Amino acid sequence: MDCGIHPGLNGMDALPFVDMIEADKIDLLLVSHFHLDHAGALPWFLQKTTFRGKCFMTHATKAIYRWLLSDFIKVSNISTEQMLYTEQDLEASMDKIETINFHEEREVGGVKFWAYNAGHVLGAAMFMVEIAGVRVLYTGDFSREEDRHLMAAELPSVRPDVLIVESTYGIHIHEKREDREGRFTSTVHEVVARGGRCLIPVFALGRAQELLLILDEYWAAHPQLHEIPIYYASSLAKKCMAVYQVRSRKSGKSCNCNYTCSPFSADVRERHEREDPSPNRRQQPVRLQAHQQPEGHRPL
Ligand SMILES: [Zn+2]
Repeated sequence: MDCGIHPGLNGMDALPFVDMIEADKIDLLLVSHFHLDHAGALPWFLQKTTFRGKCFMTHATKAIYRWLLSDFIKVSNISTEQMLYTEQDLEASMDKIETINFHEEREVGGVKFWAYNAGHVLGAAMFMVEIAGVRVLYTGDFSREEDRHLMAAELPSVRPDVLIVESTYGIHIHEKREDREGRFTSTVHEVVARGGRCLIPVFALGRAQELLLILDEYWAAHPQLHEIPIYYASSLAKKCMAVYQVRSRKSGKSCNCNYTCSPFSADVRERHEREDPSPNRRQQPVRLQAHQQPEGHRPL
């Protein structure tokens, strides 16, 4: 289950305790979602170890994994010898990754498994794994709260015997979404209203998309802001936005992604993909600077 890196460490130090396992004894590797702490060691594991089993993830996870890890290789500020893998390793790993649809049952060597929507980010899955009649549900990160572009994690229709659950926030209770978003939009409004520019670091991929939607909605409700442009400044976010849009076209009853709607219409994308034409103009843009997450995902 998953093959991530520690986002605060580099090179071999960032790997999970892989010396405790024998890679060639593993038949099946399931990856829940594209964040680095869940998929960041995968090219290394697939290309540099004796693992010969099968590896599965959802279609959207595979598409974004490719761009996210490529960006990670580029921004890693360490020597080539320290790097766990190269762009070529990443490219080669793509051929070894099989895709699975949500709710599609697959079997590898007597191990049955299927995926549920986990919310969290596009393509994120929870896996139910059945071995000799015993069912284990592994969640990865999940969110039970629907947001503007993702559905909430599903409740599996069958009961697991064992539950392995991600518990990033432990028993912490999140601030209400409305309050969080209200604080965010009023701060942005305050900054641009006094003539300032707003630079918003967006650490986790998936959050940039949600923030754009929050700002779009706020802009629509405040005509006095219409002259103020919103940009996002990241070629990675741009590439991933294309994946978001392709997946969103498949929305609907037979949807094979965890979208709730198709929010990234062509004009929304075009509006935000334009580069800031003249940084010195009197306009006060809002700029979302997407960046590789240094410490895994964080809430808004
Ligand atoms: Zn995550």
